[in-house]
Amino acid sequence: MTNRIVELFKIKYPIIQGGMIWCSGWELASAVSNAGGLGLIGSGSMYPEVLKEHIQKCKAATDKPFGVNVPLLYPDIEKHLEIIVNEGVKIVFTSAGNPAKYTSWLKSHGITVVHVVANLKFAKKCEEAGVDAIVAEGFEAGGHNGREETTTMCLIPMIRKQCNLPLIAAGGIGNGESMAAALCLGAEGVQVGSRFAATHESSAHIAFKNEIINAKDGSTELTLKELTPVRLLKNEFYKEVQTAYANNANTEQLHELLGRGRAKKGMFEGNLEDGELEIGQVSAYINDIVSAKEVVDELISGCKLALERVNDQFDF
Ligand code: NDP
Ligand code: NDP
Repeated sequence: MTNRIVELFKIKYPIIQGGMIWCSGWELASAVSNAGGLGLIGSGSMYPEVLKEHIQKCKAATDKPFGVNVPLLYPDIEKHLEIIVNEGVKIVFTSAGNPAKYTSWLKSHGITVVHVVANLKFAKKCEEAGVDAIVAEGFEAGGHNGREETTTMCLIPMIRKQCNLPLIAAGGIGNGESMAAALCLGAEGVQVGSRFAATHESSAHIAFKNEIINAKDGSTELTLKELTPVRLLKNEFYKEVQTAYANNANTEQLHELLGRGRAKKGMFEGNLEDGELEIGQVSAYINDIVSAKEVVDELISGCKLALERVNDQFDF
């Protein structure tokens, strides 16, 4: 297949693996790229030297295009960007910040820049900043999320109508049917996070992967909007957050409760009670841990089948 996203990244399928802290190291990114999608190293949880190591290992593990996701609120951002340029990374996805700050600089180094947004206003800012494509991420997504609670179903057609950039849909996409839906809404590619978090190649702790496959309808919630809104599994830590809200905790008290390194504790060290377990609503229908290639293959075959099934219903 071909479209603007496939051409922009020179990949076989318009499937991007979302950059996820503690889940997407070089092993997952290279496996997705080798399967025909675009793998992203999630640099948000990496110290600069760790990122350098992951980029080098990714280059050794695949000769296909791959990229790095850089959350712009990361503390060591300039060191990260310098490593990305020096290591010859060709694709950067930025998120959680203003695209005006680094886009031109990255592009002047020959890097393709994509920015993640959760509303129309920021999509417009991306156009002005000169990014090459955008990811529009809806309410269903895991981890950091927009404050507006706009679902993917509403966000994609809205942005498609008012923004001409190549458009990647994210949030609530975990199988071929949902990929087909996103393409029908006007997206030219999909970014998938949660389904890839529960793969063999994901660097998440096995206890977290098992928790993803046990999750049900209603197991996650978008919370902590006063800090950075985040979708989490409802565990003991989540209950503590709820108790804090019931006691009218202020922002400072919420910060104190969150503390430092909660995400690492939960997703990387497997502390299911006290850790922060970031995952999307699609966890409700993820029931197995498979390889990254199986995920990519199912997305493509399931998407094709779904589109044919719908097409067959139009006999006029
Ligand atoms: P791997 O994905 O193979 O990383 C495995 C590393 O994770 C090993 O160093 C291992 O340490 C460590 N590890 C495994 N389980 C745990 C755990 N429960 N708690 C703490 N550490 C654990 O890739 P590399 O070996 O190439 O990783 C290089 C570096 O990148 C490492 O320092 C690793 O910690 C880090 N990393 C960071 C990620 C992130 O998102 N920030 C993701 C993946 C790795 P040991 O050898 O002691 O068992
Ligand atoms: P915390 O402040 O709670 O903890 C910092 C964590 O990041 C620690 O586990 C630390 O590892 C690790 N870390 C990696 N590099 C650095 C660095 N240069 N300075 C300090 N700590 C570092 O943050 P979170 O775990 O909540 O988030 C970490 C990062 O991930 C942030 O930049 C955040 O914006 C990003 N993030 C992005 C998301 C997304 O894009 N969807 C979702 C959630 C977070 P150690 O314990 O080994 O010191």
